Amino acid sequence: MGNIIKAVCTCGLESDTIHQGIGFRYFENGVRTEPAYCDSCAIVVGRDTSKSFSKCPQCRRKVKFYKEDVEESDIEKSLGLATDDYLDEKEQWHCPRCKRETLRFESMGLWD
Ligand SMILES: [Zn+2]
Ligand SMILES: [Zn+2]
Repeated sequence: MGNIIKAVCTCGLESDTIHQGIGFRYFENGVRTEPAYCDSCAIVVGRDTSKSFSKCPQCRRKVKFYKEDVEESDIEKSLGLATDDYLDEKEQWHCPRCKRETLRFESMGLWD
């Protein structure tokens, strides 16, 4: 369950589509995908937050999640609520390419 989102920035950065949200087996395996970025490669990718170390697919260094501070308990509390706060909560996010706060997430649809 979640959103299909894509990161775009005025500098021309465009990510692949990210299936953001929790897997249907979330309660068994804790798999949850959230957007993360790599400043050295200037890319935004969807990464599994249940792993303690999420690697950049290009340089293999640790990626940074846009939401480092989401607590597991918060997710369980608000489960069922849309996790589309990337679209609503904040308009502009850090762009790993131009290093400005001009990145936006666009909704491409929903998945389940
Ligand atoms: Zn990288
Ligand atoms: Zn940019």
